[in-house]
Amino acid sequence: WYPFERIEDGKHIGIAADVMKNFEQKLGITIELVPTRSWDESLHYAQERKCDILSLASATPQRQKYMDFTSAYITLPIVMATSMDKPFTEDITTLIGKKIGSVKGYAITEKLKEQFPQMDIVEVDSIKDGLKQVENGSLYGYIDNLVVVSTYIQKEYTGTLKVSSRLEDKVLLGVGTRNDEPILHGIFEKLVAGLDEPTMQEIYNRWTATVEQVPWIDQSKLWKAFALLSIVGLVFFMRYYELKRYNAKLIKLSIIDKLTGLYNRQKTDEKLMEEQRKVDRYREYKCGVMILDIDYFKTVNDTLGHQEGDRILQLLAEVFKNTLRQTDTIGRWGGEEFIVILPNTSLEQSYSAAENLRQSVETFPFGIDRPVTVSIGVGELIRMRTVHENIARIDEALYEAKNSGRNKVCKVPIPSL
Ligand code: GH3
Ligand code: MG
Ligand code: MG
Repeated sequence: WYPFERIEDGKHIGIAADVMKNFEQKLGITIELVPTRSWDESLHYAQERKCDILSLASATPQRQKYMDFTSAYITLPIVMATSMDKPFTEDITTLIGKKIGSVKGYAITEKLKEQFPQMDIVEVDSIKDGLKQVENGSLYGYIDNLVVVSTYIQKEYTGTLKVSSRLEDKVLLGVGTRNDEPILHGIFEKLVAGLDEPTMQEIYNRWTATVEQVPWIDQSKLWKAFALLSIVGLVFFMRYYELKRYNAKLIKLSIIDKLTGLYNRQKTDEKLMEEQRKVDRYREYKCGVMILDIDYFKTVNDTLGHQEGDRILQLLAEVFKNTLRQTDTIGRWGGEEFIVILPNTSLEQSYSAAENLRQSVETFPFGIDRPVTVSIGVGELIRMRTVHENIARIDEALYEAKNSGRNKVCKVPIPSL
């Protein structure tokens, strides 16, 4: 019967619960909650003496057979809720033949049946049950106190149900005590009498002010759901970025030579193919290619060690990068062989670039006790030949550079058309 009272997580909460707390303080005695599942069960418990008091109840002749009742500490107007399309009614007793719901065992239900036998009062299990039946049309209206009805309408039936009449009657709610303990009644009567207006107002405000803020969905559940969703989202995005980074890494690994940071053989092949297509397609387009091989590199390895050889390879890559253009592609073709692709560059231009590169290597301080030099074969991609054929010709030029003393640049002779 929220906001009056309710059991939430095994705790008694609401206006009546706060009043009980107030009593406990004054008594110095704990009032123990005996949980039940329905109001009907509460009444049975009272009857069977499974509990000693009812925290909030109104007196009826039926109940007075086993319980005493204190004066009211809560007085409530009684109203009827209907669907939005029903007219406002001054006097509900005129609604003869209409089914009107009221909770089984409630004082008002007993009273209505007694006072208006001509009315069709249908007993329902709970306010929830009653309002549901009004909503689906099996009941014309549902009768209960104003506070509870408006609270439920606000939470669950805004726009579908309304309060459409107010009864003359009021519910007077006090404390019920087992009638075989008359002293108990006296004690609670005094406690109720001792409740002052400000205290009641404060308790009332506490629970009615929160009515709008208490969402029907448990707020803590909402937060849990929100937190869970956020975590799922976060994990998803983290995974997404991780994969993206990983992919970028994989792509890099698949095209870059690990030792020198230059393009690997596969990527260099691709670039050559790409340039060959351009050369084949555009008559005026020229692309130069160099193949480089380090001179006497075997002896560097043999005398200074493989590690030192690796270091020289790395330094050479730096010299290449610093000497050539950004638009040139530099690839590690084999162990100590390199290829340079010079887009939009003629044979003559490529030759001077190669010569420039040869000199840069020759003069670079590698920090070892012998010169590091390269031999270079240079040519250009000939139209309508395979990359393989073109490379073979440039390789021949490299062979020639080696044979004519090394540390040389040799170019492929221009083929007769
Ligand atoms: P030249 O080319 O002037 O005829 O003599 P070379 O001694 O350089 O002969 P070749 O081109 O056949 O050299 C191949 C040598 O390059 C074999 C190996 O010792 C060295 N080499 C190849 N790949 C690597 C590498 O990754 N690291 C190191 N340290 N050495 C390598
Ligand atoms: Mg070689
Ligand atoms: Mg060599």
